[in-house]
Amino acid sequence: MIQEPISTEEIHLQGIPVSPGIALGKIRIQIKGSKEPVAYDIEPDEVDSELVRFHRALQTTAVQIRALRERMIQISGEKEAAIFDAHILLLQDKIILDQVRTELARRLQNVEHIFYVVMQNYMEVLRRVDDPYLRAKTADMEDIMQRVIDNLRSTEPPEEDEADEEEPEILVAYDLTPSDTAAVDASQIHGFATEIGSSVSHTAILARSMGIPAVVGLEQALLNVESHAPAILDGYKGVLILKPSTETVEYYKRLQVEKEKAYKALEALRDLPTVTRDGRSIRLSVNVEFPHEYSGIKEVGAEGVGLFRTEFFLLGNPSGMPDEEEQMHYYKKLAEGCAPHGVIFRTLDSGGDKLPCERLDTPEPNPFLGWRGIRVSLSRPELFKQQLRAILRACADTPGCGIMFPMISGYTEVITAKHILQECREELEREKIPYARDLKVGIMIEVPSAAIMTDVLAKEVDFFSVGTNDLTQYTIAVDRVNNRVANMFRPTHPAVVRIIGMTIAAGDKEGIPTAICGEMAGDITLLPLLVGLGATSMSVGVHLVPIIRYAIRNLDYGQCREMAGKALCAPNSRTIVNLSLALARESYPALFE
Ligand code: PEP
Ligand code: MG
Repeated sequence: MIQEPISTEEIHLQGIPVSPGIALGKIRIQIKGSKEPVAYDIEPDEVDSELVRFHRALQTTAVQIRALRERMIQISGEKEAAIFDAHILLLQDKIILDQVRTELARRLQNVEHIFYVVMQNYMEVLRRVDDPYLRAKTADMEDIMQRVIDNLRSTEPPEEDEADEEEPEILVAYDLTPSDTAAVDASQIHGFATEIGSSVSHTAILARSMGIPAVVGLEQALLNVESHAPAILDGYKGVLILKPSTETVEYYKRLQVEKEKAYKALEALRDLPTVTRDGRSIRLSVNVEFPHEYSGIKEVGAEGVGLFRTEFFLLGNPSGMPDEEEQMHYYKKLAEGCAPHGVIFRTLDSGGDKLPCERLDTPEPNPFLGWRGIRVSLSRPELFKQQLRAILRACADTPGCGIMFPMISGYTEVITAKHILQECREELEREKIPYARDLKVGIMIEVPSAAIMTDVLAKEVDFFSVGTNDLTQYTIAVDRVNNRVANMFRPTHPAVVRIIGMTIAAGDKEGIPTAICGEMAGDITLLPLLVGLGATSMSVGVHLVPIIRYAIRNLDYGQCREMAGKALCAPNSRTIVNLSLALARESYPALFE
């Protein structure tokens, strides 16, 4: 094992590790929010040089946006990249540019301030219009305004060699939204470090699915970091190391190589079945958010997709929600790519920390307890039907696919959702459009009220899928994205463990399988517990598949069962973690080195 060096010079900031891996690179700071730039007076003969500065900033911004557009095309395709075309058009808007010129000469103030004022006036007008599409444009304007102002702040455009595209970077921010995360270029950004956040926020989930090391909860990170300074992000231990010594850099480089080698060795097991030593088969599938993850599904030998979070596709589109036809083609591509294994399509789960389905006039006081998941779909039946019809059609020729409803809180929601699904089947039948007749219907168990009713709900569906992220949040009443209470966010809280056990037992009684698709399924420490509780399917981030397969192949179901029996009687989380951890260490010690 490599020994970790100790240096007194370096600064170690401790946070919460949320995506494993090591990143070595230069710090890139991301400051969000548009603060009014400081205003100062200029002389009349400075107007021209201010305009030169302004045009340079516009050009730099256009170059940056074009680069972003290219990256977005690679990640999500042409359609998603269209947002950047709109941004470039905004940069060329003659009315805005003329007004900046006029105001600059009239007010004789620095150009960043003039530009800010002009843009604010435009945004104010847009905020008042009735058309929600136009109102949503203010976000684009805000974004573009901030970029131009940032580029004006850096006095000169970056030198060619300073903006070395190849140089790896570690992005440090107060917080990142899921869309910020999705938009980064993984070939340049090798790590994420944020001051707030939690391991089950959608930003952390995305970082894991992109295979980028990430650490959250690094308090005061922004006060300590220096732009462009070299740093190391340890996504295993949750540490951001500033001013690393040569020894530390060497240590982490060696560790990186070693981890890479170990991962490659696990990848070699890709064609072996995911079965415990004593013969219990576990379906190992993946959680998917974006098309760029598709290729990895086959590469790691996963058995299809256990959770397709459709909301990132449905809501990430700048020109509105894709129609039935477009959705159908998108889903079909995924279903065909995964055949003969199926895809479980989760219907729109908007709200919470993800984008809302519609722009809300006033923010919700408690978004996680509000208009989220199936509640949104049932209150927008036309949108819901569009998605259901698209999924039914997309899976017509690919057996083994399924659909599941998120954030179910009780029986009536299940019956209503199923009823609408049946209407869609009948419509397609009448229209003579082929559709999947064998599509399985499941529900996510992530709200305690549904979990308590699983004996009743099991009679209504073909499978359960436990969303341990929300189940933990709602059972313990602890916000999944609030790092103040992150230490309370424990999927091993005895109540959560009992609820998972109860759900699996209720499913078994009715002969339906229960999958685990929350982040808990990808935690090698807790795998013995989930297998022992009787889960027959795990859905994890694509990069975790080789590790989880290796772990399952080294477990003994009988031992897991016995340990889970003790865990169900344990009084606290610590006892449960220790029980599961002991068996995990004994079963696959190599993963703990
Ligand atoms: C969950 O809640 O565990 C889950 C898988 O859904 P999401 O993380 O998308 O809310
Ligand atoms: Mg959930």
